[in-house]
Amino acid sequence: MIIESIVEVAKSALKEPTTLEFPEHREALTDNYRGIHKLDMRTCINCAACARICPNQTITMVQADVDTAFKAAGTKMFPEINLERCLFCELCEEVCPTECLVLTKITEYEKYDRRDLVKRPEELE
Ligand code: SF4
Ligand code: SF4
Repeated sequence: MIIESIVEVAKSALKEPTTLEFPEHREALTDNYRGIHKLDMRTCINCAACARICPNQTITMVQADVDTAFKAAGTKMFPEINLERCLFCELCEEVCPTECLVLTKITEYEKYDRRDLVKRPEELE
């Protein structure tokens, strides 16, 4: 029994590791992988459709100052996204009437502090 265990341990030691040393090594992602959101505040019409359709209450409409050069200047409500809750289902992108909210291929957003996963509208630009 002990010898069998030693043999198993020896075999395991000779195998290729099944995990990767992150962040030095990263797995290639497939084309349909969905990453964090990108928001164009210039074309957002502040309709909150994205927040309403989100199945996991990931999106909160918050006040944000838009640049006076924007078409819709002034303080308006824009989506704030809590990435910790996001399912990356893409429903918010599908429902957005102006296509100003899209999911990117950026998948690296790990943080030490979970509060940093709440992204203000300005951070999503
Ligand atoms: S991708 Fe899905 S879960 Fe994430 S914010 Fe959009 S609707 Fe919500
Ligand atoms: S991101 Fe799109 S769906 Fe969300 S408030 Fe702006 S226009 Fe509406």
